[in-house]
Amino acid sequence: MEFINESYIFTLLNDEKLKSSEFQKETIQKSKEAKGLSLKECAALLNITDPEILEEMFLTARQVKEKIYGNRLVLFAPLYITNLCINNCLYCAFRRDNKELKRKTLTIDEIREETEFLVRQGQKRVLLVCGEHPKKTGLEFIGEAIKTIYGVKINGGNIRRLNVNTAPMSIDDFKTLKSFGIGTYQCFQETYHYRTYLKMHPNGPKRDYAWRIYSVERALQAGIDDVGIGALFGLTDYKFETLALLSHAFNLDERFGIGPHTISVPRLEPAFNAPLSQKPPFAVDDASFKKIVALIRLAAPYTGIILSTRERAELRREIFKVGVSQISAGSRTSPGAYKESQESLEEFEMEQFQLGDHRTLDEVVRDCCALGFMPSFCTACYRSERTGDRFMELAKTGNIGKICVPNAIATFKEYINDFASEETKKVANDFIEKELNELSGTTKLKTEKMIDRVNRGERDVFF
Ligand code: SAM
Ligand code: SF4
Repeated sequence: MEFINESYIFTLLNDEKLKSSEFQKETIQKSKEAKGLSLKECAALLNITDPEILEEMFLTARQVKEKIYGNRLVLFAPLYITNLCINNCLYCAFRRDNKELKRKTLTIDEIREETEFLVRQGQKRVLLVCGEHPKKTGLEFIGEAIKTIYGVKINGGNIRRLNVNTAPMSIDDFKTLKSFGIGTYQCFQETYHYRTYLKMHPNGPKRDYAWRIYSVERALQAGIDDVGIGALFGLTDYKFETLALLSHAFNLDERFGIGPHTISVPRLEPAFNAPLSQKPPFAVDDASFKKIVALIRLAAPYTGIILSTRERAELRREIFKVGVSQISAGSRTSPGAYKESQESLEEFEMEQFQLGDHRTLDEVVRDCCALGFMPSFCTACYRSERTGDRFMELAKTGNIGKICVPNAIATFKEYINDFASEETKKVANDFIEKELNELSGTTKLKTEKMIDRVNRGERDVFF
């Protein structure tokens, strides 16, 4: 794994010159061009301690995000299909040594019911998640699950993009996975630090670091256009982890010309009977977490950054401002939990880790509007085959905004009309009005026409 050069990363982290506030300021200035940064420059930004320089970095991260993606925040929810797992990750409740966890694999009918719940909430994107199990997470079952999820249609509402977060596969299996019509394939390395990785994964197939780190490459080779990477923050020093994660992203960009479609930044949360999760060995405080997200935005400006409901609502609001572009909302992390009662003991006994944000999708949508972020349910790029390099080309030429604004407003209007509570309707309609007032010319006309079509009952309006 020559692209994760541990000794080079440690050299950068120990380099006194990279603590110079002059160099840090110059680097922030450079990052305004939205062309990315070198690893050395990333190390310098991680070293920032001066509150004023830090504020400048946060502001720049927001500006860069808004220049590329506007004020939109894409929403999704995870759907867990099984908590069976043959791995033994020390931080996860699904680990096989957790004999007290209630194990459950959804039936196809239960997957349909979970999807119906999500569609009725207004969700349009799902992230399919599962443990690793030779029988229960085989491709045949995953394929059936995906077909079932895409097949749910309720009054024009349906899941229009399904991303997956599963164990690594061979190229041939990834080809089969692609044939199911998935969006992004995600696989988090957890920790890029080799020795820590071996400690965290005492046995099971996941112990193979190389098989995991090359999984997204195999997915790309199999023709899956969009891949997502991530690290589980809290397992090792966050500065090392961030530089290694970015090395991975840069390497994908150099070799495949597109880089990861998304980067996820999960932080280690308490998990039932997971020895390591109660007291993370390298717990990342909120301020450092914010710095990590801002740095990723400046270092890899065109990559989607995903923030999950692991984090508390107040912190999520702060982190939205420094470059996040996709968020989960109204999530549950155990199989069958959407349909089952909220927060029941049973659910806790099956969930993967504890959530920090328990709000419903409707509440999160309302909050986003109040904060000036447009909730986006748009899946137009995917369905117009603007994925992989075609999507990146649009983003890099600054054209994504022209297409996104009308599409995002139209799909948001669809959400408001079909699913929003009365309280949210008011805030959200005012928000759309304000957005429309900021448009002009053909974009405004086009958007108004699309809204009109939605108001007349047409669904899934996009171009
Ligand atoms: N089992 C597959 C795997 O490990 O790649 C796929 C899904 S796994 C359920 C999804 C992710 O959950 C893991 O990659 C890990 O980063 C995250 N995770 C596990 N335990 C966690 C915890 N205690 N807190 C936060 N995230 C956790
Ligand atoms: Fe299994 Fe994934 Fe949890 Fe590890 S993180 S125990 S592989 S579900």
